[in-house]
Amino acid sequence: MKKTMPVEGQFELMALPYAADALEPVISANTLGFHHGKHLQAYVNNLNAALPGSGLEGMPLEDVVMHAQGGMLNNAGQILNHNLYFAQFMPPKADNAPTGRLAKAIDSAFGSFEDFQEVFAEAGIKLFGSGWVWLSADAEGHLKITQEPNASNPILHGLRPLMTMDVWEHAYYLDYQNRRPAHLDALWQIINWNEVASRYE
Ligand code: MN
Repeated sequence: MKKTMPVEGQFELMALPYAADALEPVISANTLGFHHGKHLQAYVNNLNAALPGSGLEGMPLEDVVMHAQGGMLNNAGQILNHNLYFAQFMPPKADNAPTGRLAKAIDSAFGSFEDFQEVFAEAGIKLFGSGWVWLSADAEGHLKITQEPNASNPILHGLRPLMTMDVWEHAYYLDYQNRRPAHLDALWQIINWNEVASRYE
């Protein structure tokens, strides 16, 4: 996993690899503006404010997540989660599905891509409160689905995070209100499986 380094002691808001309206109608420009420009920016600001004197200055973001506690862990974890989340999207595509080695690993772990989608969505729907559902790989490359509460990330359990869906209400409430299942179902259209596969290499 490529590590995210601070620049002169400060972490930066990640640049989106697509235009603000590129994910419509799955994620509106309005939701993206709040989610990336306000929520993620606030986590970045909060972590940067907490770093001086913490003993974690200068560390890569991933190492801060492994070593921080309390509010620092929450903000660092949310930056890592959102960086991976926003980087994994592309404009909507019909019949969007993984290919190659990752597709084979999904078939082997879950039976088929459709079976994987069902189990993954169920994990997202049933996650109570705020959190994230993840597809990750263990040290042997075996795939796992985990539910992570609040700001947690699979690296805290020794897993390599590959793909995620954010089930905090701020991720979908402007576009879908309470309809979390409809939001999660729509997200399959915008997963950039080439980006996800590159995390599995
Ligand atoms: Mn979020």
